[in-house]
Amino acid sequence: MALDVDPTGPGDPLDPLDPSGPGGPSDHAISERVEELLAAGGTLPVVTAGHPVLRRGALPFDGQLSPSLLTRFIEALRETMRAAPGVGLAAPQVGVPLRIAVIEDPAPVPEEVRVARGRVPQPFRVLVNPSYDALGTERVAFFEGCLSMPGWQAVVARPARVRLRALDAQGAVVEEEFTGWPARIVQHETDHLDGTLYIDKAETRSLSSNEAVAARWAQPTPERAASALGFRMPG
Ligand code: ZN
Repeated sequence: MALDVDPTGPGDPLDPLDPSGPGGPSDHAISERVEELLAAGGTLPVVTAGHPVLRRGALPFDGQLSPSLLTRFIEALRETMRAAPGVGLAAPQVGVPLRIAVIEDPAPVPEEVRVARGRVPQPFRVLVNPSYDALGTERVAFFEGCLSMPGWQAVVARPARVRLRALDAQGAVVEEEFTGWPARIVQHETDHLDGTLYIDKAETRSLSSNEAVAARWAQPTPERAASALGFRMPG
């Protein structure tokens, strides 16, 4: 493709939820999109890096979906996350620009990994309009991946402890501290709602295919990868 041609012009003709119009997408357009996704049945298609919906901030949820549609949408997010399999999924990853995410981690990992990464089981939960603040200054760095960047992982340093503020699916206020791997999941999914992908925060020299991680960098911590690939262990 010629690099001097703007392939799209203003806005994104492939995306009816493009917010470039006044006021952004209407509640009706969002609700219709969700109905279409659910009507297709089965798991939801996950959009990948390069789709603008992953780079726009998502809209606060304020009733754009009826209670019954919200329930069905959350159920579909859960099934899609489990089928992937993944430990979290944010609405923009299925093309829906709302601040809604689900997380769940059965944490089927060896004891040494559980200890090093704090990867303890995280029950299913729904995060509506989440935000987080770091608690303390400790940062921890591990390989992580994303369903919207399939096949790749990179080392990301993140605050070891965060305080989450969110609503649950019933609209009740949740304020809770997270540590270990659940803290990483909360940050990764909330970042999606701000248009941030993990690669934005990663040590880019750590970028490794899933095959390379499995073959070489499956140690509980990434020090050996840092030495071999030439990145600094952040923290
Ligand atoms: Zn992700």
